[in-house]
Amino acid sequence: MDKFDHDVLIVGGGLVGATLACALSQIGGQSGGQEKLKLALVEAKPLGAKDQPSYDDRTIAMAFSSRRIFEGIGIWSSLSKADTTAINRIHISDQGRFGITRLAAADAGLEALGYVADTRAIGAVLFDFIQGQKNIDLMCPAEIQSIENGQDEVLWQLADGASKKNSKKKFRARIVILADGGRSGLREQLGFQVIKQDYQQTAIVTNVSPTRPHNNTAYERFTKTGPLALLPMGESGTQSRCAAVWSTAPDQVEKILSWDDNKFLARLQSRFGWRLGKFTKIGKRQAYPLHMSKPVDLVKQRVILAGNAAHTVHPVAGQGFNMGLRDVACLAQVLEDALNNGNDIGDEKVLAHYAQWRKRDNKMVPLFTDGLIRIFSNDFPPLALARNIGLIAVDLCPPLKREFTRRTSGLMGTLPRLARGLPLQENKKGFTT
Ligand SMILES: Cc1cc2nc3c(=O)[nH]c(=O)nc-3n(C[C@H](O)[C@H](O)[C@H](O)COP(=O)(O)OP(=O)(O)OC[C@H]3O[C@@H](n4cnc5c(N)ncnc54)[C@H](O)[C@@H]3O)c2cc1C
Repeated sequence: MDKFDHDVLIVGGGLVGATLACALSQIGGQSGGQEKLKLALVEAKPLGAKDQPSYDDRTIAMAFSSRRIFEGIGIWSSLSKADTTAINRIHISDQGRFGITRLAAADAGLEALGYVADTRAIGAVLFDFIQGQKNIDLMCPAEIQSIENGQDEVLWQLADGASKKNSKKKFRARIVILADGGRSGLREQLGFQVIKQDYQQTAIVTNVSPTRPHNNTAYERFTKTGPLALLPMGESGTQSRCAAVWSTAPDQVEKILSWDDNKFLARLQSRFGWRLGKFTKIGKRQAYPLHMSKPVDLVKQRVILAGNAAHTVHPVAGQGFNMGLRDVACLAQVLEDALNNGNDIGDEKVLAHYAQWRKRDNKMVPLFTDGLIRIFSNDFPPLALARNIGLIAVDLCPPLKREFTRRTSGLMGTLPRLARGLPLQENKKGFTT
């Protein structure tokens, strides 16, 4: 090997960093003596640790394009066996008003609108794959002490005690990808300017069992105090189960968490209504304060941002991880193409291509999610009327529905090969749907 210990250092083995490692481990190695990329993946918290922030008690919704990305990487079949539930319909409503929109997979010509999966189960599949790859050097639990990004290389060191064997060593990589989440400290240390906004909302997440079957429908209900989502999950015995994400004002959280199960279920029921019958059992409750973060740049001299480190959005439309997977798909293709063309993967133009490709999605998704929060939390009567007319208009207009569905499924724009479900190494150009 040349002077580099690794081609790529990935900081953070959460949902996005671990998927990135799986995708990049397949780059290179096909022709002309080019070796596969050698990767270092540094993750602070082991899988299964109580304070692992990415793989916890949450259940998240993945868009149809995310399924394709996992198919392209070759891990969808394992994921789909890990208790994944298809979303065939989405029902959107505004509490106490007349507007509703119903979306169906068939309207957009899709097999499913998306899939719901447990983050722990996703983590188990990703780490199982990672541990089987010889070209991934997994360092976990370990933290970074320093990163120095130069013109030709990145020098980095682990924090003391992180890994006894390597704590004094200065490693050399061609590039570093920060996938260390929305509260990344390294991002600022490396000179990225970040715009942050507190949403003044906290999401309370739990599971409930309704008496009626969910029929693979996901519900999004806007209420005066914030949106409430119910996602279909696999059955528990003979009972239907849904994951509930209830967004509320931060000063209400302590009180809501202190309610006993019956009171919590009754309050949840009064917000959601009776479309799913009566809520009976309830799981553990967990609170997540919500904030937005958006760096001004996505790349700087050999440093790249991906996942929540690049964009943290409100979970109202279930887009955060889906955007992170689109980062993975674009970045993997940009690096694969650079290698095929004999270019340095850390070249300014190569990284600028990634930043340019992600620009539109990174601008539009936060605009869309923030817009939803603002429009649906405003009780000004003309605005409430307009948004309800909007919901009905989408419901009654098939072309509008199809456009909306394909957009939120991540199927618009110039799609990278992985987002078309193709393996990275198939040298075909991206196309626009
Ligand atoms: C309540 C809620 C519901 C959500 N629902 C959805 C949904 O339905 N659909 C969807 O697409 N998205 C959803 N999201 C968003 C989704 O969870 C995030 O987008 C996703 O977790 C981002 O993954 P990530 O790997 O970028 O960051 P994180 O999940 O934050 O992972 C970062 C990783 O980096 C590690 N790390 C941090 N610092 C260091 C360091 N210095 N050194 C080494 N490792 C480090 C952490 O231990 C962690 O493993 C939801 C979010 C919330 C809060």
